[in-house]
Amino acid sequence: MSKEIKAQVLVIGSGPAGYSAAFRSADLGMNVVLVEKFNTLGGVCLNVGCIPSKALLHVAKVKEEAEHISAHGLTYAEPTIDIAKIAAYKNGVVKKLTDGLSAMSKMRNVTVVQGTALFVDKNTVKVTGKEDVTITFENAIIAAGSRPIKLPFIPHEDPRIWDSTDALDLKEIPKKLLIMGGGIIGLEMGTVYQKLGSSIDVVEMQDQLVPVADKDVIKMYTKANSKRFNIMLNTKVAKVEAKEDGIHVSMEGEGIQAEPFVYDAVLVAIGRAANGKLLNLENAGVKVNDWGIIEVDKQMRTNVEHIFAVGDIVGQPMLAHKGVHEAHVAAEVIAGKKHYFEPKVIPSIAYTFPEIAWVGMTEKEAIAAGIDYEVSTFPWAASGRALASDVSQNGMTKLIFDKKDHTLIGGALVGDNAGELLGEITLALEMDCDAEDIALTIHAHPTLHESVGMAAEIYEGSITDLP
Ligand code: FAD
Repeated sequence: MSKEIKAQVLVIGSGPAGYSAAFRSADLGMNVVLVEKFNTLGGVCLNVGCIPSKALLHVAKVKEEAEHISAHGLTYAEPTIDIAKIAAYKNGVVKKLTDGLSAMSKMRNVTVVQGTALFVDKNTVKVTGKEDVTITFENAIIAAGSRPIKLPFIPHEDPRIWDSTDALDLKEIPKKLLIMGGGIIGLEMGTVYQKLGSSIDVVEMQDQLVPVADKDVIKMYTKANSKRFNIMLNTKVAKVEAKEDGIHVSMEGEGIQAEPFVYDAVLVAIGRAANGKLLNLENAGVKVNDWGIIEVDKQMRTNVEHIFAVGDIVGQPMLAHKGVHEAHVAAEVIAGKKHYFEPKVIPSIAYTFPEIAWVGMTEKEAIAAGIDYEVSTFPWAASGRALASDVSQNGMTKLIFDKKDHTLIGGALVGDNAGELLGEITLALEMDCDAEDIALTIHAHPTLHESVGMAAEIYEGSITDLP
C-alpha cells in the first residue's frame, strides 16, 4: 500500500517558482509538501539553467579579459583548458545552492517528496518515485516548469545533437558547433564554447538575433560579435542528418550554400515548451492550452478555485524572477491575503559578451501600442569609466520616454555588466519616474551607471560636462 500524506499546500516542482511558493507558504504558517522529480531541489534554473550557465560564462569572461589586457601591457601565457575542472567548478556552484535549498526546506518544516506527481482528482496526486506516495491536498500550486522544444525532423537521439542541458554538461569541446536559434540561451552557450575553442555558426530564422529586443541594441551586439560567431540571419534549417563524419545540416536562406554544412555538434536552442500536458491535469479539471500552458488569473489561480500555477508553466516570459514573484502571490492568496501579480515590468538579460539587457517597452512595443515616444541614448565611448575599463566600444545606454509627459517607458543597455546596470532602470520604471527624476539623481562618478543619468540629462537638454 502506498504511503499517504495530507497537505494544506501541495507544491509540484522545486524550481525558483516552486521553492518560492513552498517557502512563502510555510512562512505564512501553512503545512507544505513539495514534490520534485529530480534528485536535487532547484529545478531547471539551479541545476541546468541560470546558475550553471553563469558559472561557465564567468570562466569564459576571465579568459576573454585576460586576452584583451595584453593590448595594455599585461600578457599572460597561453591558457590551458581543463574542461573537467571547469565542469567541477560549475557543479560545485550548483551543489552549494541546491544543498542550501534542502537545508532551507528542513528549517521551514517543508516535507519534500522525491518523485513524479500526477493528478488523480482535484484533491489528490499520486507520486511515483523511490516510494509511492498518495497526497491529498487542500490547495495546490503547480510549478512544474518547461522543457526544451524538439522538432520532428531533427534526430535528437544522436548524442551530437544537444539541448541546453547537454551543452551545460561540458563533456567535450566540439571543433565545429552550430547554434540553432539566436536567442538568449543559444548565444550564452555559444559564448562559452567559442571561448573554450569551438568555431561557432549561429543560425536564426528572423532578421536579427534576440528578435524580441530592439534593432539598434542588437546591431551593436551583433557588430561586436562578428568575429566571435559566423551569424546566418533570415536562414532556416531545412534538414538535419546524423552521419558518421558529422551532423549534416541543410539550410535555406539568401546566399546560403546549397550543400549541407557539417558540424561536430548542434545545439538546438529554439525555445522551451511548458509542461502542462504532463501532469494528468484533466483528472483535476484544470484547463491547459494547446501549448501546454496553464491559464491563470492575476492571483495565479487556475479555473479550479484551490489550484494555482506559477512559473514557466503559465507561459512567457519564461524567467526565474518572474516565477518567484508569481509564487509569492499564489502563496499569499492561499493564506487569505489580497495580492495580485501585476508588475509594471519584467527585466530580461542576455549574459553574453557584451551583455544585452532591456526592461519595459521596446520601441517595437511602443509603436505597436501607438505611444508617441522619444529615445535618448548615451554611447559608452563618452563614458570615462567605460574608457578606463576598455569597454567603451561596444556599449550604450538607451532610455525610452513617453513624449507627452517625459515618463520613462523602457530602457536597454548593451555593454559590460549591462545586466547589473539594468536594476536602476527597472526601479525607475516601477516607480513611474520621468526624465527629470533620473537626471536629478546624483550618480557616482566614474561609474557605468552614470550613463543612465546622462541619457536622462541629454533628454532633458541639460547635458553636463562630465566625461
Ligand atoms: P523549473 O525551474 O523548470 O522547475 C520545474 C521543476 O518541476 C523541475 O525541477 C522538474 O523536475 C519538476 N517537475 C516537473 N514535472 C513534475 C512532476 N510531475 N512531478 C514532480 N516534479 C515535477 N532564467 C532567468 O531568469 N535567468 C537566466 O539567466 C536564465 N538562464 C537560463 C539558462 C538556461 C540554459 C535555461 C535552460 C534556462 C534559463 N533560464 C533563465 C530560465 C529559467 O531556468 C526558468 O525560467 C526557471 O527555471 C523556471 O522556473 P520554474 O520554477 O517555473 O520551473
